[in-house]
Amino acid sequence: LFGPERKNSKGIDLTDLAELLPLDRAMGQVVKETHQAAPIVGGRARSGNARPILNPADLRRTVGQVVEAGAPELDEALARASRAHEDWSRTPAETRALCLDRAADLMEAELPRLMGLAIAEAGKTVPDALAEVREAVDFCRYYAARARADFAQPLRLPGPTGERNELRFAGRGVFACISPWNFPLAIFSGQVTAALVSGNCVIAKPAEQTPLIAAAAVRILHQAGIPADVLHLLPGDGEKVGAPLVADPRVAGVAFTGSTEVARGINRALAAKDGPIVPLIAETGGQNAMIVDSSALPEQVVRDVLISGLQSAGQRCSALRVLFVQQDIAPKLEKMLAGAMEELKVGDPALLETDIGPVIDEGAKQMLEAHAQRMGRESRLLYEMKLGQDLPPGHYFAPRAYVLDSLSRLTREVFGPVLHIVHWRADQLDEVIDAINATGYGLTLGVHSRIDSTQRRVWERVRAGNTYVNRNMIGAVVGVQPFGGEGLSGTGPKAGGPHYLHRFAVERTLTIDT
Ligand code: GLU
Repeated sequence: LFGPERKNSKGIDLTDLAELLPLDRAMGQVVKETHQAAPIVGGRARSGNARPILNPADLRRTVGQVVEAGAPELDEALARASRAHEDWSRTPAETRALCLDRAADLMEAELPRLMGLAIAEAGKTVPDALAEVREAVDFCRYYAARARADFAQPLRLPGPTGERNELRFAGRGVFACISPWNFPLAIFSGQVTAALVSGNCVIAKPAEQTPLIAAAAVRILHQAGIPADVLHLLPGDGEKVGAPLVADPRVAGVAFTGSTEVARGINRALAAKDGPIVPLIAETGGQNAMIVDSSALPEQVVRDVLISGLQSAGQRCSALRVLFVQQDIAPKLEKMLAGAMEELKVGDPALLETDIGPVIDEGAKQMLEAHAQRMGRESRLLYEMKLGQDLPPGHYFAPRAYVLDSLSRLTREVFGPVLHIVHWRADQLDEVIDAINATGYGLTLGVHSRIDSTQRRVWERVRAGNTYVNRNMIGAVVGVQPFGGEGLSGTGPKAGGPHYLHRFAVERTLTIDT
């Protein structure tokens, strides 16, 4: 029932001044330092021309410098990783798991520093930064525990008398792990540690916006005992580093989290390669809906909608995008929602009072502004939050809520703090479900209803990877709510779930006639 045992990550009481002061000091220190990221190949950071990384909350502040990888680093990393694979795949799963446990401890020891980086480099708020590091720690410990359970001993299978049958997992070879900026430590570490503990060597390509925290994670993993040639870091953009990496014949598997469009491109590149058929593990976007009927408790709905849609500035692939509200309660709920939005504060994410920080970069902000213009013509603006007068120059976007006449007005995922509301009549539940399924996405789904048959009908008919009933719909917990979607939302398996590691491995059956 409980799965393999593991320790829960350490938290911080953000309401306790005694815990906050040292955290604040350590984070302040991070902000003062300049951080470096560079290709780390064979355990050595390489030099080259550096590009500054600016704080998205205040573009006057440089967080650090990044040296991007070029063709020589890519080639050397692939050569070293290919050579190192045999030894690493024969290293006992217990030894590999121990490295992850040690990495988790080191991340916990460096919690304030890593939080500081998540805030400064990715614009995370303080609670989000804490959750980010804790999730990374949880991934390390969970995958270590899963590897001990599934990879340490072969599975004995029944056989006729006189025959012995065993099934065991082995690493595939060199895995390319391509991770997003929205969970720059948690998803980065989740992909990398899953691949490593399953017996693969890894070349990690972090998002171009967040290489600094990725470099910190790689240093920690090496310090925790992952051999230098088993894990390499190649910062850079998708075109220059990601594309040649996945196209290389030495890559035996790809884990990618990001947009559906890029996942498709990777899939095409893998299909075009000669040689073995290379699997892609993709976790992509969503057009995530929440269905609210008239039996729901409005106070609870408002809270869960704000958390689901606006926390992390809506920059989660799990975030709520379309709220389907039963017509009868729509006027009341919308009034309450607008009132609650008025209470939220958009601002500097380093300040505890801030609820919503900046979006990641200028491109994201421009996309949201263009969307707002279109919504201005095609829908009714329910509420637009005010940005503070004293905001530093950063990528701030005022969160908004719109009332739309139909979901078909939304043709793509809008990755930011924008809520879209659509009304439905009591006899239209099936139409709502059809409209959600017709998007082709299938990541998260929220339901607020106190009617058992409605909950069941929605749950049985909507194709979604993670359904949440009468609560918010973000923040899947490692090992508790395995996370990932279907259709346009990804290939599975679910991150933080009991079957995740299997996809990073091949299965080998041994039959011995005794
Ligand atoms: N696992 C995260 C959550 O449940 C979302 C991950 C993502 O945005 O890629 O909120």
